Amino acid sequence: MTHVVAIDGPSGAGKGTVARAVALALGWAHIDTGAMYRAVAWRVQQRGHSLDDEHQVTEVVATASFVLESDRVMIDTYDVTSAIRTPEMDVAAATVARMPAVRAALVARQREYATSGPLVMEGRDISTVVFPDAIVKIFLDATPEERARRRAKDLTHGFSRTEGIDVAGALATRDRLDRTRHASPLTLALDAVLIDTTGVPIVAVVDRVLSIVREKIGEHPRFRTDLSDANR
Ligand code: C5P
Repeated sequence: MTHVVAIDGPSGAGKGTVARAVALALGWAHIDTGAMYRAVAWRVQQRGHSLDDEHQVTEVVATASFVLESDRVMIDTYDVTSAIRTPEMDVAAATVARMPAVRAALVARQREYATSGPLVMEGRDISTVVFPDAIVKIFLDATPEERARRRAKDLTHGFSRTEGIDVAGALATRDRLDRTRHASPLTLALDAVLIDTTGVPIVAVVDRVLSIVREKIGEHPRFRTDLSDANR
């Protein structure tokens, strides 16, 4: 078992907020793997390459260095924290994420993070590919309407500043890209816990995930010491 809480699901399901809160409560690191795909897409474009050129995209990934902090994302010394949160970057990230060589390189980096301590990792393929032996696997979902509503309200995202964007349509397009790609499509792992977050307050989702983590950790004594006193 790997010392990882894996949180997968489509965009707008609440992964980011839930993963961050769960990591904070446990005192574990939080890794947003979507930010890695976004940062790669940003760097490819910034270097003047085409997003469709798998060879060039793979080259960018091979030499990229990442800083993934709770409030800061950097690639190759460029702070891309807000630049990667736009509707254009949604599509750009999903485009590079279809490339098997890009995925392989990023998955290797993602596995490295777990060697320095326990973590909560969010993405699309964490339970299925990156950490198939994660101690806890969660799949967050919500109705397309609820996900689109949340996305439209997301102040950090370009949608809230852009008039006339079809949020629901854009979300449906990206869902299709993520679910139908050949390389590691978004799917529910057989042993994941599915949580429908439609109409459920985020705090309730976080509590549910934390109770699943505590239960699992209780079953595996070697993980037990990682729960802080505050969470007993
Ligand atoms: O989670 P976020 O919306 O930031 O992810 C952006 C895109 O990156 C997703 O639409 C998906 O195509 C890709 N992604 C992925 N695998 C992950 C995380 C993100 O393919 N583990």
